Amino acid sequence: MTQTTAVAGSMTQAREAAGPVTTRPGNMFTENISPEYHNNPETGYYIPLTTLGDPASRRLKVITIGAGMSGIMLAHNIERDCQNIEHVIYEKNSEVGGTWLQNRYPGCACDAPSASYQLNFAMSPDWPSFYSQAKPINDYLIGVVDKLDLRKYMTFNSEVIGAYFDADRGIWNLEIQQTLSDGTTKVIKDDCDLLLGAIGILDRWNLPKIPGIDKFKGRIVHSAG
Ligand SMILES: Cc1cc2nc3c(=O)[nH]c(=O)nc-3n(C[C@H](O)[C@H](O)[C@H](O)COP(=O)(O)OP(=O)(O)OC[C@H]3O[C@@H](n4cnc5c(N)ncnc54)[C@H](O)[C@@H]3O)c2cc1C
Repeated sequence: MTQTTAVAGSMTQAREAAGPVTTRPGNMFTENISPEYHNNPETGYYIPLTTLGDPASRRLKVITIGAGMSGIMLAHNIERDCQNIEHVIYEKNSEVGGTWLQNRYPGCACDAPSASYQLNFAMSPDWPSFYSQAKPINDYLIGVVDKLDLRKYMTFNSEVIGAYFDADRGIWNLEIQQTLSDGTTKVIKDDCDLLLGAIGILDRWNLPKIPGIDKFKGRIVHSAG
């Protein structure tokens, strides 16, 4: 209830700050839409008339968490398709690749043919085998990032440990734990308008809860550990 009130309050302020809502002549999607459609004082429902690629649109800060295949794709696609964006990618590892960097057990490979398991904006003809192993896939991803100069968006050794949405300001506040070269850590803060999660569904590995596992005398390993 408190949160709803806060959101409505901030929307009212945003509406007042924006002044009267105007349509955009020449925009086929917005020129004929009644302002009430996206700006209804009765309900507090407010959608700013923001058009992708319009130089008049305000600058947005985007933070992506993760520099695996998904994060690399976002780095490239946002650079290619969006203007007026500041994009920062935080990655907890020291290199790109995610799955293919972390999993190196003998025989770790992709069950999709290499020709199809690659980024559609960076098609490689140089795969060593029909089904590639983890290292060639990761080498390919590193090559893509370096060739397309995407590393400039990425901050490594930086794990996002907290993300909190501030409904009044409409921004995400993040806490990031960075591991320095001497092994010590420090926590920094950052914020953004849009937060994109590219953290991978298989990144957080767990040992199975086998009864008695704590009494096992041998070495316990996990393929991703
Ligand atoms: C052993 C294994 C084999 C697989 N085989 C196949 C296959 O044969 N075919 C197939 O299609 N798919 C396969 N997959 C699935 C594979 O994970 C996806 O295809 C793809 O690589 C996922 O990319 P991603 O970028 O979404 O996630 P990931 O590669 O998991 O990358 C996520 C990244 O986010 C980072 N991250 C996570 N949390 C944080 C945080 N809090 N702060 C900062 N960084 C963070 C991680 O360090 C990681 O670098 C396999 C997965 C595994 C584990």
